[in-house]
Amino acid sequence: MLKIIFLFISVCISVFALEIKQLPIEFGDKRVELTKEYIKSHYNLDVKDIKIIPKIIVVHHTAIDDFKDSLSRFTSQTLPTDRPDIQSAGAVNVSTHFMVERDGTINQLMPLDYMARHVIGLNYNSIGIENVGGQNSKDNLTDAQLKSNIELIKELKKKFKTIEYVIGHYEYRCFEGHDLWLELDDNYRTFKDDPSVRFMKELRENIKDFKEAPCTQGHK
Ligand SMILES: [Zn+2]
Repeated sequence: MLKIIFLFISVCISVFALEIKQLPIEFGDKRVELTKEYIKSHYNLDVKDIKIIPKIIVVHHTAIDDFKDSLSRFTSQTLPTDRPDIQSAGAVNVSTHFMVERDGTINQLMPLDYMARHVIGLNYNSIGIENVGGQNSKDNLTDAQLKSNIELIKELKKKFKTIEYVIGHYEYRCFEGHDLWLELDDNYRTFKDDPSVRFMKELRENIKDFKEAPCTQGHK
């Protein structure tokens, strides 16, 4: 009898839509205006709003193993002063559409059609998924996070037919020279190793109908 009850519960869970917690970061007029400035200076586009049409999903890790500490990097509208690596490239703080906790809980942090600052060159075309973990470049994202990424990406593909690619952040430079690449400054690049080759391999084994990053010489 217990087995039947468990079976019933698991069927119910799989039938219901994916659970996504709403945890909005501050995204007021200030961050919108700073985002427009970023779009102008990096992509040379004059935009009325910061709405995007997503073509790519970029998967990240936060490089911090604690959820609250990870979240705190994204809450302020302006970039914290301890990011000299990207400070000169604009005052708008980094952001991400989703943050997946280590137990697999999915949080949505901002509107899906707003541009987030999470990846050089591709912000205007992409949705960002941050996973809590990867401190000191450890390949430690959990199976629960993998499962949530798989489900979330499938859900996003249903919602946005325009999405063609799923890439790891470490693959972003594969798009240099591609139609979707918009960054004007050839010297503005940062090294990225997130979320790990292993995580992307396991993710790709479980999602279909997406193109991989257009690398000509293997993954960077
Ligand atoms: Zn990243």
